[in-house]
Amino acid sequence: MSDKTENQSKDESELYHDKQAVMLRMHGNSMYPTLQEGDIGIVGKCRPEDLEVGDIVVFKSKEKIVAHRLMKIQAQALMVTYMTQGDKNLHPDIPFIAEAIKGKITTFQRKNAIKTVNDGSVRRLAFIATHFRRIVIPFYNFALRVRYYNKKLKDSFLSLHKNMKIVGKGTQRQFLKNAFIAVVQGVLPFLLIIFMKLLIDALTNPIVPNVSIWSNQMFLLVMTALLFLLNALITVIKSYYMERLSYSVKCRSYELLQKKHSELDLSMYENAGQQDQMHRADQEVGFRPVKIMSELLMLIKSLTSLLVMLALFASIQWYLVLLLVIAIVPSVVVQWQYSGKRYLLSKNQSPVEREMGYYNRILTGFPFAKELRLFGYSGIFHNRFLSIEEKLEKDKKSLQQSELKANVFAQLFAVFLIFASLAYLVYLKMTGAITIGSVVLFFFVFQRGFSVFMELFQSLAKLVEDNTFLNDFMDFLNNPVKAGGIGGKNPPSPLKKGIKVENLRFRYEMSKRDALTSVSLDIPAGKTVAFVGANGSGKTTLIKLLCGFYLPLEGSIRYDDIELKDLNKEALRGQIMAVFQDFALYNISANENICLGDVKKPYNPDQAKKAAESAGIAEVLERLPDGYQTLLGNLFKNGEELSIGQWQKIAIARAFYRDSPIVFMDEPSSALDVDSEKQLLGSLKKLGKNKTVVIVSHRMSTVQWADIIYVLDQGSIVESGNHEELMASRGRYYDMYLANKGE
Ligand code: ADP
Repeated sequence: MSDKTENQSKDESELYHDKQAVMLRMHGNSMYPTLQEGDIGIVGKCRPEDLEVGDIVVFKSKEKIVAHRLMKIQAQALMVTYMTQGDKNLHPDIPFIAEAIKGKITTFQRKNAIKTVNDGSVRRLAFIATHFRRIVIPFYNFALRVRYYNKKLKDSFLSLHKNMKIVGKGTQRQFLKNAFIAVVQGVLPFLLIIFMKLLIDALTNPIVPNVSIWSNQMFLLVMTALLFLLNALITVIKSYYMERLSYSVKCRSYELLQKKHSELDLSMYENAGQQDQMHRADQEVGFRPVKIMSELLMLIKSLTSLLVMLALFASIQWYLVLLLVIAIVPSVVVQWQYSGKRYLLSKNQSPVEREMGYYNRILTGFPFAKELRLFGYSGIFHNRFLSIEEKLEKDKKSLQQSELKANVFAQLFAVFLIFASLAYLVYLKMTGAITIGSVVLFFFVFQRGFSVFMELFQSLAKLVEDNTFLNDFMDFLNNPVKAGGIGGKNPPSPLKKGIKVENLRFRYEMSKRDALTSVSLDIPAGKTVAFVGANGSGKTTLIKLLCGFYLPLEGSIRYDDIELKDLNKEALRGQIMAVFQDFALYNISANENICLGDVKKPYNPDQAKKAAESAGIAEVLERLPDGYQTLLGNLFKNGEELSIGQWQKIAIARAFYRDSPIVFMDEPSSALDVDSEKQLLGSLKKLGKNKTVVIVSHRMSTVQWADIIYVLDQGSIVESGNHEELMASRGRYYDMYLANKGE
């Protein structure tokens, strides 16, 4: 029995008080079929002496409330014990005493129907349970199993329908074309068999051939040849249309995935559990929806074949189809059981697979190449990679081995039954009950029928399995966008008052420490504000919160008087130009690199040049082989690699090209030399006029000129003022300034 049905038979019923009565919701199936999971029993209070054998008694056993049938009341010495047993249980419960009794069930509700234990059908079940329990339990178990699979199948198809509506949007016409081909493919093999039968019967007809018989034979021969031709052609036609459908479904799936990625909260990327889900979604997207489509088509084809085949069986020996069905049962059970097991295994393996992928990236990725050579650590990561791979392989192998064994048994069973049916057909021919053509027809129909049934159940099992995988993808798409999406108000443009932060507290989702505690500050409109502080003091976190990438835990951020959470994030980000500490390197042309800064306006080469000049990279770009058209980076052919400082300047040029009224610069000069930093500061001062600028740095030289400097320490602001004021107060800033002076 499957895990699920085993669980179901555990008693975990729950007792609760309604206004008028005490109710018991059945969580198990140990009283099946009298009481079923989900039924609500009304528990009548009763005195122990009122109980009779056969009653459904409600009692407390090991902290659980159980409703089982009373089988015996035993009085020994001065003690009375009650013996009960579930109608579907093979063993009695532990006997209990009167104190454990809560009452008995006389009435119960199933869906909307009310039944009492005196109803004829319920009384009959009680009689069977008390007298023929052992005989009926296998039937009950079988019925429960059928119900379980039926429900599983129904749920799967409902979710499959929902998923396909999303993933297959816009591809309906292509799907219909493919479905038509599938129907033709389903019918063709049987048509061929029928024509073969007719041909054989015509050829073996003992009547002396005449013109009409000859022309009939010719007709059958030509038709058979045409069908053969069509059968061969349909495969090619199918592959053409399937390719078109796959392409559309793939495009749509990638569109959904990439769109979701673009709006997801950054916190998703920092949560290990969600990264696993993301990993699975990324892995699935390229093939799973397409696979499901082709399985659906396979199902259509098999169903068509099945209908034709049933008609053929019905026309001659209909009962033989039963043998075929029985032959297939073990194979189907194996398929279904192992599809669930495969999914569970893959889900459990997902976190370690990601870990393995990470080690592989260390061993093969360029960012690690220098250290890998210098420190010679490749062996360590290779061994880690191998040990995970071995473990994964071991688990997979043991599952595959047991599946193989089960399949061998299932196939042996099927082959035995098929050959038994064939023997029967030969017998029928010998007795003259059927023609030689019919034997041939049956032989092929049997052979084809077996594959049709196999295909049908396989595609059903695969559909359910693949849909379970696709559900991961759907779950990923359904992730809520907490920080980014909400808020419909447009940000003030330009800011009049500025940005006000009050009592801000923030903690990263997976972290156990606050990154910011009770931060309050003002960023007046049109002024330049700087955040300084040691590594880890919370400067970058503050910038990310100002951009609305995360929701604060407490406190508020206001742009003029509008709360950040109420702002339309897309419109807000449209007003911000930013350079992040971990700026991105794009292996595209220099031009495109700069223009990514503002994709909404048409490309403006003069403005791009100006931005490059302000960032101090114009000269370098002009000297490149194709000037601004040169491909940057060395990922692709003919790319020109830049130094990290030059890349940082490109990121700055990108921000300058955007030319928005709010500027956030997080360590914009971390990779720049002294002269470049000076030039950047000059540009910032010039471009930052009338803009609201926030600059983050641990270098004092970068921030001295700011109107207000906030000094952060361990997530709090410890000092604020301009350079002169802070120097005069001789506090943390002063110390940092002196320590920095030599830089
Ligand atoms: P700074 O920019 O001042 O160097 P950060 O704002 O990057 O500092 O970091 C502030 C604190 O938040 C640090 O203690 C750091 O460990 C923590 N932190 C930063 N990023 C994350 C993250 N993605 N997840 C969890 N903790 C983080």
